[in-house]
Amino acid sequence: MDVLNKIQSLREELNLHNYNYYVLDNPTISDYEFDIKLKELHDLEAKHPEYFDENSPTQRVGGAVTKNFETIKHEYRMYSLDNSYSKEDLLDWENRAQKILGNVVLQYTCELKYDGASISITYENGKLKRALTRGDGFQGDDVTNNIKTIKAVPIKLKGDFPQKFEIRGEIILPFAGFEKMNQELIEIGETPYANPRNTASGSLKLQDSAEVAKRPLDCLLYSLVGSNLPILSHYEGLEKARQWGFKVPTQSKLVNSMDEVFEFIEYWDKHRHEMPYETDGVVIKINDLHLQEELGYTAKSPRWAIAYKFKAEQVSTRLNSISYQVGRTGAITPVANLEPVQLAGTVVKRASLHNADQIEKLDIRIGDEVFVEKGGEIIPKIIGVDFSQRTPSSEITKYITNCPECDTELIRKEGEAQHYCPNYYDCPPQIIGRIQHFITRKAMDIEGLGGETVALLYNNGLATNYADLYELKKDEIVVLERMADKSAENLLAGIEKSKQIPFDRVLYALGIRYVGETVAKKLAKHYKSIENLKNASLEELITVDEIGVKIAQSVIEFFENQNNLAIIDRLKSYGVQLELDEQESTVVSAILNGKTIVVSGVFEKFSRDDLKKAIEDNGGKVGSSISSKTDYVVAGANMGPAKLDKASQLNIPIISEDDFIKMIQND
Ligand code: AMP
Ligand code: ZN
Repeated sequence: MDVLNKIQSLREELNLHNYNYYVLDNPTISDYEFDIKLKELHDLEAKHPEYFDENSPTQRVGGAVTKNFETIKHEYRMYSLDNSYSKEDLLDWENRAQKILGNVVLQYTCELKYDGASISITYENGKLKRALTRGDGFQGDDVTNNIKTIKAVPIKLKGDFPQKFEIRGEIILPFAGFEKMNQELIEIGETPYANPRNTASGSLKLQDSAEVAKRPLDCLLYSLVGSNLPILSHYEGLEKARQWGFKVPTQSKLVNSMDEVFEFIEYWDKHRHEMPYETDGVVIKINDLHLQEELGYTAKSPRWAIAYKFKAEQVSTRLNSISYQVGRTGAITPVANLEPVQLAGTVVKRASLHNADQIEKLDIRIGDEVFVEKGGEIIPKIIGVDFSQRTPSSEITKYITNCPECDTELIRKEGEAQHYCPNYYDCPPQIIGRIQHFITRKAMDIEGLGGETVALLYNNGLATNYADLYELKKDEIVVLERMADKSAENLLAGIEKSKQIPFDRVLYALGIRYVGETVAKKLAKHYKSIENLKNASLEELITVDEIGVKIAQSVIEFFENQNNLAIIDRLKSYGVQLELDEQESTVVSAILNGKTIVVSGVFEKFSRDDLKKAIEDNGGKVGSSISSKTDYVVAGANMGPAKLDKASQLNIPIISEDDFIKMIQND
């Protein structure tokens, strides 16, 4: 086979696997095999730039940067939908349609209303040509580069598709991916995103498509647009689109009466929380395309379709008080303490108030009856005040001006919504939070020491920074509450053991703002010691892979501080690892992020511990036993037959030591 053929067949094969995985949710090869093939294609394309194709699966990782999104007129207008909130509204809609149509027999397609950002994608000759946002309905922004990174969006179609058409759908962010993104933000001390919908629509406007590629976005399609399409009904369009390779949700249903429409609505009102993404209603569409045409459009929306909005689960309850929490980074979060109330299956006692602007905007006052809603957010939120119940004596909420914990005057940076307590060194929750972060499993992993004990140590004056941990004496700690002889010994042993923790994790443990696990690995690998890192300039720092100005500035600030320098000197004197052990400094990457790998047998090039370390250094997790959660088994000589059976039963790929080495060098 010549090179071009090889490239083309790899592209086709990889497109098919993307389809199986992201559209059908039914992968037929392992991630490992996929990665190997992708790398093979990547290497061939690199050697043969003459065969570059912007639609190659290798281009899905993004890279194109768009400074200004071009505004382009929609060939077919993108309309809104009229909303309805009751059966009566829906029956009125049906009557209006029947009046125009002259009482014909109607069929309806019922679909869920996906809550994300709408998109219109044009295909020509089976290839993705262009993707536009809705904009004002007449013209939208060209976000093609970003859309191409979403793997559920086919780049090449299959089957007998029309030569040219548009398809419309919704870009969404499933709950699981949203929570994961937020978890990562919380870990580096940043404010989490408010909800999946805004995060999805914000993602479409990111300038760097490589950033978009990293977000777990999905694309659900719901309608074909074009002239001379090979379909007579809307539902047929959905089925055809599915055949051409689009992700069309299977919940959509063709029904024959309004009663069945109501059944569909009732069913999904109860079961929508079982969906992996947010839905805020049902869309009902008259199925026959000729009838659709006859009905036409109002100024804003089609007469042949209507949205039914689910009632957001909402209750009202009393706001008893507002408390203010201080996080590890000093950020202040106002929290509403509510009269406990039942909502969407749980008892709600607290709700987030976000920030001072939010309180002011809604004019929320203590003693108010407030409306609480549970939408896509994990934490319920207050959406308004029942002003009819407000007592005349209520007072405007004054946001705190000083830290509730240390009384320092709060600051608020230009353009930021959050207030901060700037008292980095003496504000108790910041100090305790930093020590708590220092001891966590991914950082210094100090066994025998928990978050509460840290607070206890601090409150008893035994630790005011993490260096103090290394000077704790047994007789000081046994006297603490609930601290037996044995637990005091375990604690000290745990602290002693943490001196073995490698430099990259120590760097993460220091709690430098924006330096999360991955960034710490990169910096450790690049600079090799805290001395080198300390001496790095801003210009130098930003040349390191993945280090931007924000991170670089934060690093510089950290090392400019005399207190920090003193603490680092102390850590060094206790024997904490502040430079990379050269023997250990193998490959470090995020290539195994999210992968769980079980190690079994005896190896030639690695000791078992080194192999485990290599897995972790590259972002993976070492699993203790084979289960359906295992991604790969790295097998050495003498792998036990029981394990072998288990792995093959569960279809888990077994790879050799050499395969593994190839895998982590896949960068
Ligand atoms: P609205 O924004 O309230 O006018 O509602 C119209 C929007 O609902 C459309 O622009 C789509 O983005 C979105 N939508 C979500 N699910 C569907 C669906 N199944 N059919 C049509 N539109 C939908
Ligand atoms: Zn404070």
